[in-house]
Amino acid sequence: MGTTLLLEVGEELGWLTVIGPSLLLPSGDRRRRFTPCLCRCGEVVTVTTHHLINGDTRSCGCLRKQTTAKNARKHGLKKHPLYMTWCAMRARCNNPKNAAYKNYGGRGISVCKRWDSFQAFLEDMGERPENLTLERKDNDGNYEPENCCWDTRSNQNKNQRRRLRSRKRSNGCNGPPPGAP
Ligand SMILES: [Zn+2]
Repeated sequence: MGTTLLLEVGEELGWLTVIGPSLLLPSGDRRRRFTPCLCRCGEVVTVTTHHLINGDTRSCGCLRKQTTAKNARKHGLKKHPLYMTWCAMRARCNNPKNAAYKNYGGRGISVCKRWDSFQAFLEDMGERPENLTLERKDNDGNYEPENCCWDTRSNQNKNQRRRLRSRKRSNGCNGPPPGAP
């Protein structure tokens, strides 16, 4: 071992090109061999020679960052806490097999065209404040930016009970659809 770990100057490993002889540098309580490299992105880095040889290190870190950003774009939105809210809203309005459809899609309530995009829904509504649910101000209105807000479920139930007794419609932010889950 030892000498077999040395790399030639100019050698390419992934995005890295060796630009100098490896050096023994202190690392923790011992000394490790490091190799100065130029990354294809222009960054100069000193990487652990061992990682360079076994393939653990293939860039200055920019490749890993790129992959992470790509994955976040691809899968991140589906993991967003509001993704299920968005799906449920669309199911209530668009899917006759949905248990709540009769109170939504079945009553002519629809989701606006813009909110076919989860991204647009997120932009318009913003993050959901803790313990609040998506509500429509006008119970007969559609799911669209002007008619939607975040409200508490407890308010919702209270108002629903009150309204059922008094048969009065609330114009505020608290109006729940009848039979709201
Ligand atoms: Zn780089």
